[in-house]
Amino acid sequence: MSVAEIAESDKMREFRTTSLHGDERCRDCDVFYLCRGGCRRDRDLSVSGSAGENIYCDALYNFYKYAEPYLAKIVQKLRFGGV
Ligand code: SF4
Repeated sequence: MSVAEIAESDKMREFRTTSLHGDERCRDCDVFYLCRGGCRRDRDLSVSGSAGENIYCDALYNFYKYAEPYLAKIVQKLRFGGV
């Protein structure tokens, strides 16, 4: 199959559709702007067929809470320069 055929295949369409629905827990998560629910392949499919909670949620949360201030500093340096 060509890349274009893969992108338009039923499997890929299904993957994209199920990826759109986030887990309830993510909606109120204060690091969602960084994590965005994590990688789709690590999210269980719920009964409804939508992608549910990430199996690494606790680890992702702890990582982003730890990294958040450092990431903010990197962003600041990229925007305004300096070392
Ligand atoms: S840390 Fe957990 S709850 Fe927060 S966005 Fe990531 S997967 Fe969702």
